[in-house]
Amino acid sequence: MSKVLIVEDEEAIAEIERDYLELSGFDVTIKTDGDSGLESALKEDYDIIILDIMLPGTDGYEICKQVRNIKNIPIIMVSAKKEDIDKIRGLGTGADDYMTKPFSPSELVARVKAHLARYERLITDNKPENDIVEIRGIKIDKTARRVFVEGDEKSFTTKEFDLLAFLVDHPNHVYTKEELFREIWDMDSVGDIATVTVHIKKIREKIETDSAKPKYIETIWGVGYRFKG
Ligand code: CA
Repeated sequence: MSKVLIVEDEEAIAEIERDYLELSGFDVTIKTDGDSGLESALKEDYDIIILDIMLPGTDGYEICKQVRNIKNIPIIMVSAKKEDIDKIRGLGTGADDYMTKPFSPSELVARVKAHLARYERLITDNKPENDIVEIRGIKIDKTARRVFVEGDEKSFTTKEFDLLAFLVDHPNHVYTKEELFREIWDMDSVGDIATVTVHIKKIREKIETDSAKPKYIETIWGVGYRFKG
């Protein structure tokens, strides 16, 4: 059963919303002030929040912002004032929808259902799948930051991995050592472009069968390096 939080200080409105949602099979909690609404929204596991803007205590904008910082659940904001709706748009609070009071409770139920369905799809589509590149015998798992050569895992330092992943992400693009240094190392980090050469050498030792004839990272003399796509 999907859990709905209603944060609304006008109890009569909150109760109508609750009744309609309960009739549609939702499990509804009502909070009638901003502070307890915010606390509940952050602590409890709701599937969707219906959030009034003008509330005693913390207002709806602030609640929306704070919830959005840690949760992706749908948030429908409601207000009696048209100007509030414009403000929601302008502020980029992260609300998914907004409704102007008075609205029909069945319209609210329809939107709640639509947002929950959309959110379900979003979660299903975003099932964590590792970002993996496989090319001519090497496999680079960018999510897990692991590298396999012909099935054998090779150990990479952070910068070696960053450098390899960067080159792999831009196949056939020639980068100068300066560009690579800027890209991978912070501007204030100790080192210079010779660091790039050293790291390329180490990466080659791990992924190339013959470092003198690299299959993956080519040296473009006088320019820099490129990953053969
Ligand atoms: Ca209100």
